[in-house]
Amino acid sequence: MENKNQKILIIGAGLCGSLLALRMAQRGYQVQLVEKRPDLRDVTQDAGRSINLALSDRGLKGLRLAGVEEEALKLCIPMLGRMIHDKQGNTFMSNYSGRENEYINSISRPGLNMLLLDAAEAMPNVEIIFNKGCTKVDLENAVATFKDYNTKEEITYKADVILGTDGAGSVVRKAMFNDRNFLFSFSQNWLTHGYKEITIPATENGGYRTEKGALHIWPRGEDMLIALPNLDGSFTVTLFAPYSNSDYCFDTLTTPEMVMAYFETEYPDAVALMPNLVEEFFDNPTGPLGTIKCSPWSSFGKACLLGDSAHAIVPFYGQGMNASFEDVVVFDEILNKHDSKTSEENDWKTIFHAYEMTRKKDTDAIADLAVDNFREMKELTATPLFQQKRKLEMAFESQFPMEYFSKYSLVTFNEDITYHEAMTRGRVQDKVILNLLNDGRLPDSMELAEKFKLVKKETTEALHDDAVVGNL
Ligand code: FAD
Repeated sequence: MENKNQKILIIGAGLCGSLLALRMAQRGYQVQLVEKRPDLRDVTQDAGRSINLALSDRGLKGLRLAGVEEEALKLCIPMLGRMIHDKQGNTFMSNYSGRENEYINSISRPGLNMLLLDAAEAMPNVEIIFNKGCTKVDLENAVATFKDYNTKEEITYKADVILGTDGAGSVVRKAMFNDRNFLFSFSQNWLTHGYKEITIPATENGGYRTEKGALHIWPRGEDMLIALPNLDGSFTVTLFAPYSNSDYCFDTLTTPEMVMAYFETEYPDAVALMPNLVEEFFDNPTGPLGTIKCSPWSSFGKACLLGDSAHAIVPFYGQGMNASFEDVVVFDEILNKHDSKTSEENDWKTIFHAYEMTRKKDTDAIADLAVDNFREMKELTATPLFQQKRKLEMAFESQFPMEYFSKYSLVTFNEDITYHEAMTRGRVQDKVILNLLNDGRLPDSMELAEKFKLVKKETTEALHDDAVVGNL
């Protein structure tokens, strides 16, 4: 796309929109970024609630592309593995990888968003406008209407193209849904579970009340608690529980006594770390968890969706933000390819179409993997067979670091293969190892190299079988 004087209107200055604005400005476009909320950097953050996210290699690749990886890493706390807490308060660490350099990072959501806003704002060709919520989009003409939350006035902005990064409840996507001039497919699937955030505060001298370098999990079958560390010594804890139809669910946890009884029964060691548990339980909202898929992501060559607006996923692989940053990388690669083409091949319609063709199968894959991982985290991490599998995979990764990558590693640490490929290989490998373990074909007496040879052979055969029946 040679004409860099074009105006790009980006709607939504969250994680994806801010990174995208920065990258599009670096490519030379005139960027207008409009956000419905007030500027995060002016609003005092609630000291008691620091929301954090797991940032891993795909997300880091996006930040690197825009030259902000180093700055972001300063906000990160490495988490080397899952620290599993059983009901008796025993803990054990299950590393994310057998390779030493593979870990995920806990990062503050507002901290990262502010860093991206600062970097975008430093570009001379970016204008950022806050407090204006998009209410309507004229897709054919790339015109969007906003309501100013201060003056209550309506204002319209026209651009050459609109990029919708307005999250899971996207107004840009709704405009596509309501437009009868093209066929728009949409699905929204809610989990039966919701989530609620609680805090483990820092100790009086600013220290951590439990192991800092881990993602803590209390798996309890139907429900679970997780905790990620913050730089100030606190942890953000998230409870995932059913809304209804269970002994303990959001619909029945309605009194302080019930909440305390539930936590004391299920998470006794965590209760001791959360002095404000009851207040926070009732003060903080319960959020729903859902998967959104849609297609096409673009309309009339004038508007395109990126990030959660195109593919919101449940948080159990810690990949929503990472996938949204990877969107920016893939979109950028498509722009690079089309830059060198003739004018007929580098119009926005062609570019948006090529982007979706390249990317959609991967965001569908991570959406499905994230739902699978919900089960793995809340149930399987606590089962002996699963723990045996992780132990074996850890040994393979440590002994054969260039040859073996678990599904988790393929998804999280191998940013140069697609999510779809990671899913395909990872699922087959999991099935093979679990079956071999279950059938007693990987006994303790067997050499690790022999076990590895057997797993590799069976995986290759299973992948071949899948290819024959057209599953790949
Ligand atoms: P958002 O971050 O939702 O940003 C959208 C922006 O658009 C917001 O600033 C919003 O105010 C603005 N906006 C909305 N509507 C309008 C409008 N009408 N007009 C103007 N502006 C508008 N991902 C990970 O990678 N790792 C994790 O560990 C992780 N943990 C998670 C835990 C939970 C509980 C949840 C719910 C999600 C988690 N995610 C995680 C997913 C991650 O939060 C999202 O994938 C990511 O925020 C998507 O970025 P986005 O910019 O597309 O959307």
